[in-house]
Amino acid sequence: MDVYGLVGNPVGHSVSPPMHEAAYDELGMDASYVTFEPAVDEIKRAIAGAQTLGIDGLNVTIPFKQDVIEFVEPDDIAERIGAVNTIAFGEDGLPRGYNTDVAGVTRAFSHHDIDLSGRKAVVVGAGGAGRAAAFALSDAAAEVHIANRTVDRAIDLASDVPNASGGSLETLESQLADATVVVNATSVGMESDETPVAAELLHSDLVVLDAVYSPLETRLLTDAKAAGATTIDGAWMLLFQGVEAFEQWTGREAPVDVMDHALRDALTK
Ligand code: NAP
Repeated sequence: MDVYGLVGNPVGHSVSPPMHEAAYDELGMDASYVTFEPAVDEIKRAIAGAQTLGIDGLNVTIPFKQDVIEFVEPDDIAERIGAVNTIAFGEDGLPRGYNTDVAGVTRAFSHHDIDLSGRKAVVVGAGGAGRAAAFALSDAAAEVHIANRTVDRAIDLASDVPNASGGSLETLESQLADATVVVNATSVGMESDETPVAAELLHSDLVVLDAVYSPLETRLLTDAKAAGATTIDGAWMLLFQGVEAFEQWTGREAPVDVMDHALRDALTK
């Protein structure tokens, strides 16, 4: 049996197991996806243990995404972002690190037939999701502005990302006026009715991706729909980071519709 899993702390409410196991069932694979919750200072031993036990692949989540990079061989994107959310233990058993949150963003847009090239995009937030979104948009040839509550984090991130600027949340008003893409990469709206973007700043030329996936219909997305904007909920990003991890681990094309169905089922339980 192939064994894949998720390392995080906490991982109790993860929706990754049903999403990945639906793919294994669909493709008739003898595989299992399990969650692991090592102590916050034990990630090095956790990776070594997984390698020793012959685990095939791991997803990595909070709080380990940054720390784990020094214990794996990161690919170019993971190296540039400074975070790893997927580890593949190849034929030689050595851990290689990837960041599939970037593909999660890119593929969420392309699945909705949105070509990012040449667009002006605003990323709200400069944490892990904000970094992934900013690199994804920039790599897809969009012009990127990052707005964040802590201005220094936005400016630091903008200096790492080609073709990007950074500023405070006050810059949203001027930046959104002629933007056609906005990504919420803050945790604002998670299990709450708050929004990081005032409703009056939204307009019908925008495509709005919310990284927040609980609830699926956030206040931001409700306001965006009311303004006539196109909306993409956080489950799409979550789905495609998982699809990309699956394809990285197995070399097989993921059954996207089946994974989407299982994920949305788990998110609405
Ligand atoms: P993180 O690294 O902790 O970053 C949190 C971000 O939210 C920071 O930019 C922070 O600003 C901002 N923030 C927090 N509270 C705020 C407030 N009250 N007002 C304004 N800004 C606020 O977290 P993360 O890993 O990037 O995750 C961010 C969100 O994305 C979470 O809801 C997470 O579940 C979601 N996410 C979704 C996916 C997906 O696949 N859909 C993937 C990754 C993350 P400061 O810098 O000022 O603190």
